[in-house]
Amino acid sequence: MEKAKNILTSHKFVRAILWLAGILAILAVAVVLVFGRRGRNVDIEPVIPDNTTIIDVKSGDSLSKILSSQGINHNDINTIAKVLKDKAGITGLRADRDKIEFVRESDATDAPIEKIVVVPGPWRRVELTCDDAGKWDCNAIDIERDTRLVYRQGEILDGDSFYLAGMRADIPAGILADVYDLLAFEMDFERDVRAGQKFSVVYEENYHDNKKIDNGSVIVVSFDALRGNVKMYRFRKSDNTIGYYDPNGNGAIKSLKRTPINNAKVTSSFSTRRKHPVLGFTRAHKGVDFRAPTGTPIPSAGAGRVVARGYNRGHGNFIKIRHNGSFETLYAHMSKFAKNVNVGTVVKQGQIIGYSGSTGLSTGPHLHYEIIKDGKHVNPMTVKLPAINNLDAANKQKFLEYRETLDKAIEGLASNPKSFIQM
Ligand SMILES: [Zn+2]
Repeated sequence: MEKAKNILTSHKFVRAILWLAGILAILAVAVVLVFGRRGRNVDIEPVIPDNTTIIDVKSGDSLSKILSSQGINHNDINTIAKVLKDKAGITGLRADRDKIEFVRESDATDAPIEKIVVVPGPWRRVELTCDDAGKWDCNAIDIERDTRLVYRQGEILDGDSFYLAGMRADIPAGILADVYDLLAFEMDFERDVRAGQKFSVVYEENYHDNKKIDNGSVIVVSFDALRGNVKMYRFRKSDNTIGYYDPNGNGAIKSLKRTPINNAKVTSSFSTRRKHPVLGFTRAHKGVDFRAPTGTPIPSAGAGRVVARGYNRGHGNFIKIRHNGSFETLYAHMSKFAKNVNVGTVVKQGQIIGYSGSTGLSTGPHLHYEIIKDGKHVNPMTVKLPAINNLDAANKQKFLEYRETLDKAIEGLASNPKSFIQM
């Protein structure tokens, strides 16, 4: 009993030290001025040696296609695919992102291959070598990355969209898309955005050898919406899973999205008007219409299982998904369904299920989106949606301390917009 208690207290002590070190790292950080970030960087492109061929993976390429184009035989291709999968977790190549380098023993184009390097993005190199016995092995190397947190703030102007205001605030398009995705859980961009509202974003920039390589994740986002400030923090739980939380530590990611398509304008709102007693037709609009040019990909609003996929006169091509608990969503007027999405298919939140169109009773291409709760249609813009990934007591405590530290550091960034936090 006594021993167990000691372990517990010493464990707590170590955690306190680690935590303190973390706080010091962020504070000490402190806010380094960026001198000469612009103009001074002379780009030195690495010289490619004559014995090296670099192939950019393009749409339609496969590992075996690329390897055989370089003279690798069928047996070796199979072995390489297996080694990549088992030892580096690489199961396929991504077009327009991954590269493969072939290093030959000499400059001659037919010289034997000494090394193959698979480059999945800028932060990893997987080197494949073959020993004298013909056995392939691989070695994954993580490239050292220097991450900085930067701060951007902006304001909505008259006649502005959030997107335009974000671009003006120098927020990169990719980060802006992530911000939009996050805020869409809490905000209705159609009704909550007005001139004069302010917003801010803290996000990661990744450097290598003092050269900016890419942007990382959104760390904090804050938006002064019509019904109050919406703020979300990225936080890693003790089990290493990452999520976004509001300032009180409630999960910011909801089980469903109010607006499945980003940046789509609402063209018709939910209305409960009943069947007209004389005319006999119904005036109720059981969903929300979003403007969406034909072919716009439609993501599932939440994780779930497809329970209907078909055609009817009113909805045209439609899909219905059952989510956890009591919610269902419906997507109508599609021009076509996504491949491999059938009745029974389990889908993730954000997975493309089809493409917008104007099938059924529709006057133009749009997405008609319904949320059904316990069998009843509800207004997607106002229904209270359950949060996923809420924090337990221990993680919540950790989150609140982290948030306080981060808020203090961000104050420094806000007062000096050219500064950054070295992580
Ligand atoms: Zn509609």
